[in-house]
Amino acid sequence: MKPHGPIPPGYSADSDGMLTIGGDRADALADFAGDTPLFVYDSAMIAARVAEWRAAMPTDMQLHYAMKANPYAPLLAFMAALVDGFDVASGGELRAALASGMAAADVSFAGPGKRDRELEAAITAGATINLESRGEAERALSIASHLGLTPRLAVRVNPDFDLKGSGMKMGGGAKPFGVDAADAAALVRDVLDAGADWRGFHIFAGSQALDASAIAETQRQTVALAGRLAEEVGATPPLVNLGGGMGVPYFPGDMPVDVIAVGEALAETLAARDRALTDSRFAMELGRWLVAETGVYLTRIVDRKVSHGETFLVTDGGLHHQLAASGNFGTVIRRNYPIAVARAFGRDPIETVSVVGCLCTPLDRLGDQVALPRADVGDLIALFQAGAYGASASPASFLGQGAARETLV
Ligand SMILES: *Cc1c(COP(=O)(O)O)cnc(C)c1O
Repeated sequence: MKPHGPIPPGYSADSDGMLTIGGDRADALADFAGDTPLFVYDSAMIAARVAEWRAAMPTDMQLHYAMKANPYAPLLAFMAALVDGFDVASGGELRAALASGMAAADVSFAGPGKRDRELEAAITAGATINLESRGEAERALSIASHLGLTPRLAVRVNPDFDLKGSGMKMGGGAKPFGVDAADAAALVRDVLDAGADWRGFHIFAGSQALDASAIAETQRQTVALAGRLAEEVGATPPLVNLGGGMGVPYFPGDMPVDVIAVGEALAETLAARDRALTDSRFAMELGRWLVAETGVYLTRIVDRKVSHGETFLVTDGGLHHQLAASGNFGTVIRRNYPIAVARAFGRDPIETVSVVGCLCTPLDRLGDQVALPRADVGDLIALFQAGAYGASASPASFLGQGAARETLV
């Protein structure tokens, strides 16, 4: 038997033992959707996450949603009313953000390799471009001058530090992201001299960290760096986007981020900030922390079989929808995501099984030798932490199985 990650708080069973999501039974949600597999996102949980963050952070902090975590349109529309901005990373995400009802002025566009037509779309809409290089700055300025518009430009800085303990490092050393800290002030001067509307700095050092003190230390370094750069530029950045980094517990032994501790440390960091940042506003951009726990992937058992003494539950889902849960999205060692039998949610396990998907590849394993209550053909398996980097971050075309259904409740 191998352990699985902790079931996120807030999920419970009805009197029959059936998992409920947002007050609805999992089996009823699947029936209503018409078929499985199905991603269910719980809007009340999303609102609660945002409220928890706001309660913990200094009052004037802004919260941005990094929409690559989950770009499902109804979720974006719901989120648009809750957060202060969207961070997008492609022309397609820019369109989705604008369609969601978020004001263009509250959308910022980061990401390497922005094409001219994507820069043009952002400038025309009035979104902020987080510049990733000098070359991109020159292209944006020339496109804006052809359009006769004043572009809103921020400079993304590649910091000389990274987020300790983060699952994905986005700063420190040679990176395709941002302008090296040593070159950032000169680029800002040139952007200002060109008459652009300079929006400030974007500094993103890493993602999926659980340790509050590591996040706090990175934020301290980030604010210090922004202060040094502002002094060097000789102007106040209107906004300093501190990046995100707050992760969620996927695996056995993972503990949730102590958000209160992050907020307290950030209040101290901001109180001690450089004078050049006195009038700056600050934002955090979060993806997975806001939505991962609010999503459940429901997949139905199609076959139950035994091979060499190991029981397999074969489902109609798989890595084509939940690549990360299969261990094939940036993880070194495969470990089990939180998993449950929907019909017997919270019941004691009685057998050890492997839950696999329907793809004809040994990579397609959603639960490896996990202890679960008895489950049979037709039962639903629930995979948790499915609200971020699930449907949109998995190869839905692989093996011709097609996309999963999605619903926001
Ligand atoms: C991916 C990304 C995020 C979100 O990261 P999470 O781990 O989902 O919070 C934020 N900012 C930038 C620039 C990103 O690329």
